[in-house]
Amino acid sequence: MTAPALSGKRVLIVGFGRSGQAAARLALQQGAQVAITDLRPQSELAPLLATLGGTPELHLGAHPAAAFEGRDLVVLSPGVPALAGVEQARSCGAEIVGELELGARQVRSTLIGITGTNGKSTTTALTGALCAASGRATFTGGNLGTPLCEAAGSAAAQDGFCVAEVSSFQLEEVQRFHAHAAALLNITEDHLERHGGLQGYAAAKQRIFLNQSAADHAIWNADDALVSELVQGLPAQSWPFSLKRALERGASRDGGDMVLRGFGAEERYAIAEMHLVGTHNVANALAALLLARCVGVPAAAARRALRTFRPLAHRMELVAEARGIAFYDDSKATNVDSVVRGLDGFPRKVVLVAGGRGKGGDYAPLAQVLAASGRGLVLIGEDAARIAAACAGVLPIVQADSMQQAVDAALAMAQRGDAVVLSPACASFDMFRNYAHRGEEFQDCVRTWVAAR
Ligand code: ADP
Repeated sequence: MTAPALSGKRVLIVGFGRSGQAAARLALQQGAQVAITDLRPQSELAPLLATLGGTPELHLGAHPAAAFEGRDLVVLSPGVPALAGVEQARSCGAEIVGELELGARQVRSTLIGITGTNGKSTTTALTGALCAASGRATFTGGNLGTPLCEAAGSAAAQDGFCVAEVSSFQLEEVQRFHAHAAALLNITEDHLERHGGLQGYAAAKQRIFLNQSAADHAIWNADDALVSELVQGLPAQSWPFSLKRALERGASRDGGDMVLRGFGAEERYAIAEMHLVGTHNVANALAALLLARCVGVPAAAARRALRTFRPLAHRMELVAEARGIAFYDDSKATNVDSVVRGLDGFPRKVVLVAGGRGKGGDYAPLAQVLAASGRGLVLIGEDAARIAAACAGVLPIVQADSMQQAVDAALAMAQRGDAVVLSPACASFDMFRNYAHRGEEFQDCVRTWVAAR
């Protein structure tokens, strides 16, 4: 048997978050000499370090230059800023990779990669469910939940399916990453501040198709002009999907059906049989079906899984219905496009709770969709004034200082038959730990109100 790839290698893990921990564990298991650097002090990290199953060298509280010296491999966590030490290590011959790249190198089975601005998690979870329904071992994770490094050595990574959600940050660091089937769902303004504009962001997203050949599959959104441009000339087999037009080969919506062509006889899957709601989720399901069918999941297995799959938490999740008002938690909608898609064609008048830390995007599309479906707008967080300016004159607007105040204000505006929807169009970090924390606070306020009725 050959030695594992990392055996004897001098590996530095930069950032000891979820993916850094997974990378460290993998490197230790394979017999690497592991060092870790993180800004947090040892007192905070001790419980996590104790779970590693080895004794790495530690450089904590800062990223000192010494930590980067003499390394063969430096593993960066997503979102780690540019560090002088990384460039220094690179110039001394160290290989610099992200955790996703490291994990992908361990996959011996079918690797499926999914990226896009919105819908990644839903599409990844659904694709994982479709693959698992085939009966083969399936790992579902990546940027969503479990880091890909944790799949290493599993049955899924040996001869099953590894389904990975991939972020644009992770794609910046890939080199040999090679997805047998890869999907690019959409590209809209998000994270512009990090990638230096839309072109840089799009270029990162396009790397989901890196290293693909004619034996591989590229799944892409034909309704998205930028995506359609980016996939021109790819060597992989091309599988477009569209909500707007029929496709000779690929997946499209036809009335109440999702139609797949190109896998022998035409296949039809009923939209109404899914628990997922909203047109954006039909697009996600089209992509998931194409991915699953391209890697050989039988149509009957895909159909079964499609019927039983449930939406993930904080994605247009119905929290409660009381006094004729429905409450939805869509806290995961952290950019303008996802809010607009979620509200487009919404079956009720909406009191929208939005705001938080903005991402530099334009709020005008929000004003447009609210003109059609909005009852009122309650704003929280740092970007409240910017959103208010964009939506001025369109509908009544109230600003609130806390989630409790926001829910109270929304209730004061809502009428019987309306929906109160938390769909912020912003990141949460100015007021909450993360989007899940924000969603839970909203749900708590709603449940307290409902219980008091
Ligand atoms: P991601 O992992 O890319 O953030 P999620 O599946 O978690 O995607 O969904 C995030 C938000 O985006 C949700 O609020 C959802 O309503 C919205 N959304 C989901 N799919 C799409 C899509 N295909 N296009 C636009 N918005 C979407």
